[in-house]
Formats: sequence, structure tokens, C-alpha cells
Amino acid sequence: MTSVRIKKGDSVVIISGKDKGREAKVLNVYPKEERILAENINMKKIHQKPRKAGEKGSIIQAHRPIAAAKALPKCPHCGKAVRVGFSEAGSEKRRICKKCKAEF
Ligand SMILES: [Zn+2]
Repeated sequence: MTSVRIKKGDSVVIISGKDKGREAKVLNVYPKEERILAENINMKKIHQKPRKAGEKGSIIQAHRPIAAAKALPKCPHCGKAVRVGFSEAGSEKRRICKKCKAEF
């Protein structure tokens, strides 16, 4: 996978893992790692130890990036999680919904 199918700000549908079937907004994309960070997806609890005496430890929730292959972009035109193709118009690469053929 060399082309970025998913962009920051996209809505995606998770297709595998514990968050399967959920819809989320893409907060960040890491093209080199082929990972994406999606809102409220892959939440991990992180236990923070107290740093000073008398301080309580706390549990914070953080979301971790997931493999980009685990998510499909949601087409804004037909509203479905779709596979995308690409069209090259000049220097600009545009994504095409394979279902309704809309560019997005
Ligand atoms: Zn579509």
C-alpha cells in the first residue's frame, strides 16, 4: 500500500479488531507506519504512578494508533464504508469511491 487511502479528518469505519463496526473520525495519519489515529478507537488505559509522596496514582485513557488496513474510509456521497480507487488528474491524485464513483 503506497497510496494513502485515509486522510486526516476522514470518517472511517473500523473493519477488524475490538472496535469492529464502529465509526470514527481520523485525528492523525502516520503514512510511514501505515497507521492512523482515530477518535475513541483502540483506547488503552494507562496507569500513572504517583510522582510525589502523598500523590495518588491515576488511570488515564489514551487512544493508540491502529493499522490503516483495519479501517475503511466512509464515502461522503453514498455514506458507506468503501474501498477507494484513485484517479490522477494532472498532478493531483483524487480518491474515487468504488461504489458510487464519486471523487472525494
Ligand atoms: Zn460512494
